[in-house]
Amino acid sequence: MGTVETVRIAQRTGFCYGVREAIDKAKESSAAGKRTHTLGQVVHNEGVIQNLLDYGVRSVETLDDVDSGAAVVIRAHGVKPEVFERAEHRGLEVIDGTCTWVIQEQRQLQELVEEGYTIVLLGTPNHPEVIGLLGFAPDAIVVDDETDWVNIPRRKRMALITQSTQPPWKFEKLAAFMVNRAHELKILNTVCPVTIRRQEDTLELAREVELMVVVGGRHSANTKELTRLCEIAGTHAIQIENARDLDDPSAFDGKRVVGVTGGTSTPIEDLRDVAARIYELAGTDDVRGRAGELSERALGAAATPAGRTTSLPASPKTPASAA
Ligand code: SF4
Repeated sequence: MGTVETVRIAQRTGFCYGVREAIDKAKESSAAGKRTHTLGQVVHNEGVIQNLLDYGVRSVETLDDVDSGAAVVIRAHGVKPEVFERAEHRGLEVIDGTCTWVIQEQRQLQELVEEGYTIVLLGTPNHPEVIGLLGFAPDAIVVDDETDWVNIPRRKRMALITQSTQPPWKFEKLAAFMVNRAHELKILNTVCPVTIRRQEDTLELAREVELMVVVGGRHSANTKELTRLCEIAGTHAIQIENARDLDDPSAFDGKRVVGVTGGTSTPIEDLRDVAARIYELAGTDDVRGRAGELSERALGAAATPAGRTTSLPASPKTPASAA
């Protein structure tokens, strides 16, 4: 018999505004009758990709896969400026879904280059956002884990900037490390506020429950960071991609209150589905039969759920209010 009595969803989870807007732009374009593609998957989430396919939006790996005259959506991570030029040269309609926060980062990088700083960019080297940022500052030195930092040279004028989803503690530590590396050090804190709030809310919930379930892409840096923070708070966390990954009731043995949180690319509905799955898999006799109702209630208790999913209908035929 299961022991879980309550599942709680962290406040302020679901899509971040950058991801949501890129998805909405793709759906709007397709709904307006344009052949629409996204350059790369908007998020690595099966449900979202299927939902976009229902709208007729297909993801492509390169611009060469898009027919002339069709629309191509740039996802929230942004791209190098050359990508815009190539798309226009090929006669494509470019719909810019780059997140406004990332656009600001790109502009700031460009300014740093013009001001002549040696730039250090904290980020995951092959992450699409970092690849896009390097288009604005090709000579920037990208560093990730602490083992990379010894390779940072000493220069008279240096600047530090970061990929939006890097953990704030890592940025602060690197900033402190770099103080001795330069005579003049300019620090631009470009950690996205959404990332910071999500981490705060996840930590708060982790302190109040007995077990956490973190939902997001296996390789997503911001999801892995949420898992790490739960463990730091002293609460064990299971990281999964979706509700189907939960098949072992013994993981919940003896736990009465379980928390659920998710990365910035995880729709809030996935968190509700995970909550329902936990109730069904490991709930007490009392709650197991009410998994649907209780998981909806958990979703309703999370902050502003309506703003945390795509604002357009789940499918072209579904009314917006049902999304
Ligand atoms: S995490 Fe922040 S910067 Fe990145 S896409 Fe989302 S809102 Fe934009």
